Amino acid sequence: KKRVVSGVQPTGSIHLGNYLGAIKNWIPLQNTYDTLFFIVDLHAITLPYETQQLSRATRDTAAIYLACGVDTSKASIFVQSHVRAHAELMWLLSSATPIGWLNKMIQFKEKSRKAGDENVAVALLTYPVLMASDILLYQSDFVPVGEDQKQHLELTRELAERVNYLYGGRKLKKLGGRGGAIFKVPEPLIPPAGARVMSLTDGLSKMSKSAPSDLSRINLLDSKDVIANKIKRCKTDSLSGLEFDNPERPECNNLLSVYQLISGKTKEEVAQECQNMNWGTFKVLLADSLIDHLHPIQIRYEEIISDSAYLDRVLAEGSKRAADIADATLNNVYQAMGFLRR
Ligand code: ATP
Ligand code: MG
Repeated sequence: KKRVVSGVQPTGSIHLGNYLGAIKNWIPLQNTYDTLFFIVDLHAITLPYETQQLSRATRDTAAIYLACGVDTSKASIFVQSHVRAHAELMWLLSSATPIGWLNKMIQFKEKSRKAGDENVAVALLTYPVLMASDILLYQSDFVPVGEDQKQHLELTRELAERVNYLYGGRKLKKLGGRGGAIFKVPEPLIPPAGARVMSLTDGLSKMSKSAPSDLSRINLLDSKDVIANKIKRCKTDSLSGLEFDNPERPECNNLLSVYQLISGKTKEEVAQECQNMNWGTFKVLLADSLIDHLHPIQIRYEEIISDSAYLDRVLAEGSKRAADIADATLNNVYQAMGFLRR
């Protein structure tokens, strides 16, 4: 079976972008692939954060995975920091990563600019190396992510090839050795729609957990009233009629796309249904469909989060299985890099 891995950071609350760009797309993959979904808590400390909230946010994220339909009879859910190999492999990979590759990363540039360059942690720069470890440890074939992670995935692929060349099969083969790669080179799976859900307050920036204004996103656990209010207040324009793909109307395109994905309708159906609508009518329609779609997820979330023994069990089983796979890869890397065996 081919393998799929993906994860979300436990920073702030999970929003519609995380759901439409990533989590929702994991669900059908469970039937075909060997799937591992993790909560990437080690990534959540790269910007200033509240220590008292990290563990709570980690459990919440796990409960949301389950509430969205991750099924532990098919998939494993675990916490990144519970599998020590992630941090360990990151160190090994860091030695094979040219610093110039990291300096080019858009997320680093954006997040460090927002954080004010002086106090930016080294970890924000090296974040993609940890992400590469998350993926390469599991010899993953596919990684379902939103559009914003495409560049990091590309770096992961290049790093896998570089390590394979420097320490593994290809170089050895050239020298007359046996060959055989250390890492599988993974492919991103970016959804055709929903890969980049935009902020409710600015149609040109992506919806994000770390954006300061909560009005910029719909959180998966927002109440009915909050959803209705956020949609009511979200940015629109003064043109009449609604349309997809007009570059002058990024908010319009974004909101129609969200409606399309949440309602399960086709783009053509939505284009037709909404072409003569005014914003007032459309906003009510959108808010109602969001509320209806998220309601069952929220009910399941409440059940799961209140059963802490169950959640503990899921995470313990998940990390045990993950550690078995990860440790095997890590041992191989140590050997290939020439370390003394323990
Ligand atoms: P942060 O602002 O802390 O980076 P985030 O909202 O970007 O948070 P992540 O945990 O970094 O969330 O990303 C988790 C997954 O959600 C990734 O696969 C990412 O590509 C996807 N994702 C994040 N934001 C969006 C978005 N606006 N649209 C679609 N997918 C998204
Ligand atoms: Mg992000």
